Amino acid sequence: MQPFTLDRPEQLAQAVAAGRSGATYMAGGVDLMQLWKNDVEGAMRVVDLQPMGMREIEAGPQGLRLGAMATMAEVAEHPAVVRGWPAVSQALLLSASPQVRNMGTMGGNLLQRTRCPYFRNTAFACNKRAPGSGCPAIAGDNRNLGVVGISGHCIATHPSDMPVALRALDAQVELRGTEGVRVIPLAELYRPWGDTPNDETTLLPGEMIAAILVPASAAARRSAYVKVRDRTTFAYALCSAAVGIEVEGGVVRDVRVACGGVGPAPWRLPQVEAAMRGQALDAALIERASALASAGAVAQSRNGYKLVLMQRTVRRALQELTA
Ligand code: SF4
Repeated sequence: MQPFTLDRPEQLAQAVAAGRSGATYMAGGVDLMQLWKNDVEGAMRVVDLQPMGMREIEAGPQGLRLGAMATMAEVAEHPAVVRGWPAVSQALLLSASPQVRNMGTMGGNLLQRTRCPYFRNTAFACNKRAPGSGCPAIAGDNRNLGVVGISGHCIATHPSDMPVALRALDAQVELRGTEGVRVIPLAELYRPWGDTPNDETTLLPGEMIAAILVPASAAARRSAYVKVRDRTTFAYALCSAAVGIEVEGGVVRDVRVACGGVGPAPWRLPQVEAAMRGQALDAALIERASALASAGAVAQSRNGYKLVLMQRTVRRALQELTA
C-alpha cells in the first residue's frame, strides 16, 4: 500500500476541482481500501466525500431521491424504500455483510470494481488494470465471469446487486462536475468493455455521482430481487434477477426484468419484457418468457451454466413475485 494524501474539503466545488486535477474520490472506502491493499489502485491524492453530505433519502409521488453518500444499510431499511421499491431494498440486503452495508454508500456501490480474480491479483496480466497486457480469464478461470456485453479484451462482470434493481426500475443518476449538474439514465453510466475495458464509465474528469433518482411506478411497488450465489452469505451473484410487474385484469400491463452477475453492467432483458407485455399472466407465459432470458448470451469455456441460470433465475423471480 502506497502513502497518499487525504483531503477533506468543505465545499463541493473544492472537491470537484481536486477530482478534476486527478485526485481519487473516496465515499465509504470499502472497495478502495481493498484495491489499495492489493496494489491495484495507487492513488496518491484522495478526496474524502464524507463532509459533502449527500445522504438524503427522499420519497415522493414522483419517485425516490437517494443521496450518493447514503449508506446501503440506511437505504435498505428505509420504510419508504421497502414499501415503494422493494427490489432495491432486497438487493441491498442481499449484498455483502451488515458491517459492509453500514460503511458502503450508494454511489460507491454503483462504482464497485469487478471481482475478476485476475484483475485483483497483480501477478497476472489484465487489460483492465494494465491496458494491452492481455486477458488471462478468456482461457483461464472464467466460471464466475460474463456472458453478455463482453469483448475479446475483457469478460469481467459488474459485481454489485443494487444497480440491477435500479436498472430494472429505470433509475437515473445525477452527476456533478466542473460543467455543473447533469442527469443521465443509469444505463448510460457504464461503458461496454469493447477495446478499452479500463475505461469503465462515462463520468467526465472530476465528475462525481451526487444522487440516484428512481421513478415511482406500479411495477416498482410490486418488484423483487433474487440472487443465486455459491454460498448464502457474503458472496457475489453468479446470476441475479430484478423484476417488477403491473398486472391489470389478469393481463401484464408493465414488466421490467434485469439480470446481474452476467455482464459489464446490470443487464436489461427487453426480449423477456416484450414477450410478457399485454399477455395474460399465467405459469405458461412465465415459462415462455423466461426461456428468452439468455438470448444473445455467449458462454465462455467454464461458464456455460450461466445461460441456463439466467433463464431459471428470471423464472424464479417472476414466479415468486406473482405467486
Ligand atoms: Fe482483466 Fe477483464 Fe480479463 Fe478479468 S476479464 S483478466 S478484468 S481483462
